[in-house]
Amino acid sequence: MVQPYLYQRVELVEPDWTRFPGWRDVTAAEWESAQWQRAHCVKNVAQLRAVIGELVAESFYADLVADQERHATMSMLIPPQMLNTFAAAAVPGGRGSLTDAFFADPVRRYMLPVASDRDPEWPSHPYAVRDSLHEAEMWVVEGLTHRYPTKVLAELTNTCPQYCGHCTRMDLVGNSTPTVDKHRFELKPADRHDRMLAYLRATPGVRDVVVSGGDVANLPWPRLEAFVGALLEIDNIRDIRLASKGLIGIPQHWMDDEVRAGMERLAKVARHRGVGLAVHTHANSAASITPLVARAAGGLLDAGVRDVRNQGVLLRGVNDSVPALLDLCFALLDGAAITPYYFYQCDMIPGSEHWRLSLAQAQHLQHGIMGYLPGFATPRIVADVPYVGKRWVHQVESYDQVRGISLWTKNYRTSIESDDTAAISRVYPYYDPIHSLPAAGQAYWRREAGIVAAS
Ligand code: SF4
Repeated sequence: MVQPYLYQRVELVEPDWTRFPGWRDVTAAEWESAQWQRAHCVKNVAQLRAVIGELVAESFYADLVADQERHATMSMLIPPQMLNTFAAAAVPGGRGSLTDAFFADPVRRYMLPVASDRDPEWPSHPYAVRDSLHEAEMWVVEGLTHRYPTKVLAELTNTCPQYCGHCTRMDLVGNSTPTVDKHRFELKPADRHDRMLAYLRATPGVRDVVVSGGDVANLPWPRLEAFVGALLEIDNIRDIRLASKGLIGIPQHWMDDEVRAGMERLAKVARHRGVGLAVHTHANSAASITPLVARAAGGLLDAGVRDVRNQGVLLRGVNDSVPALLDLCFALLDGAAITPYYFYQCDMIPGSEHWRLSLAQAQHLQHGIMGYLPGFATPRIVADVPYVGKRWVHQVESYDQVRGISLWTKNYRTSIESDDTAAISRVYPYYDPIHSLPAAGQAYWRREAGIVAAS
């Protein structure tokens, strides 16, 4: 039977890292060591050049430098595991033989953005802002966002083992770049973590804690284990989700003996207390799901965590088609036993306009992926609407597709709205990327942009 999408079981493959000149002599033991991976992360153009050399042309490096100097909101940090998935199907030959494949590569497009990727007229939407989800406004303790009635987000660290170009927390996460001076936590980590725990002990209405950052893979293991162990002693906490893109970017971290043994201890206590301890990760392309990722995820399940789930981000040029999304979901589910869970619209931070999709495109993708995956593993595509929270893309109240303005409502108050009687009856706007609009809509924003800038 002919179907719009043809399912085929695909075996995962670890791309051969020795195809890159800089890694020609790297052994499997080195490759599988978290320490080796961390010590050989690519943090600048010179280090990238030392790995891939002349396989990509000077034009690529120049494009990358231009982006670093003029646009990047995140500094460069790519573990070898992740860089090795770039252009994996292309055959390296002579000088420049991987240039086209690098420019086109979906993982490269969000982990290593170049200036020519960006939207020349609208690099940012006029309403794009740092901390676009206003998380810091909802901090009840520094780094603890209480946005939903029963759930909190605990940002334990402001670093990650890899930095994604489109990071929502670009305001806080990672090193400053030429265009973004990052905010910094003021309290010492131990003080912040203690105050978070004190708030949670005193707030029985919270039952669900996302332990995040940054990325929990960057916390010293004893510190993370102590924090999660303390959460497990709070009666009202029934779900704990550890957020780590590192499971995809540097799975070697989660395969490390100390981390494995610690996860087993935590999972045992969680099971005993009936708490759902899960790991949430962030993969955006099927290319990222390799046998090492599957081994690391399998190790977490063997350790006794309840589930490993994926929260991807919809990104133009990365996964903005039904086959790209379904290929990723099946690689996660069939290959690595990771449950596809959400795809988020890319948030409205500065510099993200070229990555973002319109609401109509997101609705089309949600429609297109229905019916192929089991229901429990069919991801919802959601927009994280400022001051609202996650909304399924078909929940929109009204939608002006010419100006690209959608309006949304919510059914709860955030922690800063306890006295706001209109919070639940108000409508909240969200905006399509301007490049996706018809000519009349683009003309509207050319007029509007001047008004926004002057206000
Ligand atoms: S891993 Fe998450 S927090 Fe870290 S840079 Fe990527 S998107 Fe941001």
